[in-house]
Amino acid sequence: PPLYKQRYQFVVDFVKRHKPKKVVDLGCADCSLLRKLKFHRNIELLVGVDLDNSVMKQKMYTLAPFPCEYLKPADQPLTIELYHGSVTEKESRTKCFDLVTCIELIEHLLLADVERFSEVLFGYMLPNAVIVSTPNADFNPLLPGCPAFRHIDHKFEWTKADFQNWALEVCRLYGYVVEFTGVGKAPSNEESIGFCSQIGVFHKDPYRSGTFVRSESMENTSSHTLLYHVV
Ligand code: SAM
Repeated sequence: PPLYKQRYQFVVDFVKRHKPKKVVDLGCADCSLLRKLKFHRNIELLVGVDLDNSVMKQKMYTLAPFPCEYLKPADQPLTIELYHGSVTEKESRTKCFDLVTCIELIEHLLLADVERFSEVLFGYMLPNAVIVSTPNADFNPLLPGCPAFRHIDHKFEWTKADFQNWALEVCRLYGYVVEFTGVGKAPSNEESIGFCSQIGVFHKDPYRSGTFVRSESMENTSSHTLLYHVV
């Protein structure tokens, strides 16, 4: 399957294994991943955030229940909310989720904003688990005709080492542990290059609770606009 489907499947497999109740997808774009996640009955609150409200609006009504779901409601209702806002701003309605997904999002931020994003995500939102995927620049020479960056809107593309440095620093600052993996395998003779899409899976470090940095202002900040709400 194409790489984007492999990334969504990675998240779906994680959700099947860990059964989170509250999930937020940062940079949800046209809600493709949310549309897959809404069928997982363990989820009670599913939230999407994006800076581009026009792309979110394109297909957001497809998140609405099917008529048969009104006729035979599930035991546990599912709430879906879409917010227009930036992932570099604090929004208390995205705090303390079981899982935050950031699929091909971070490389669209200005490098200067990455630190602020990390603080908002790990120091303010305080999720139990986070999945971050981003292109692996080390893989680009294997992609025929690949320009400097894979997409015109990418502000940077990290090598395996760049990504791991960022992730390990975030873990040190905010008390998380990370596991590195990915989707899109390199050919067997080039395995050291790593995956085409590199993925970090973060969990709160059970041995370090209370000893890590928390965002300065923990107040109930609201910076996003609710675009869509359905139960
Ligand atoms: N996660 C989706 C997927 O995997 O199909 C879409 C990824 S798309 C390449 C990147 C998305 O990030 C875009 O929809 C863009 O609008 C959004 N984005 C970029 N900067 C953002 C920011 N500061 N806050 C929220 N969303 C942002």
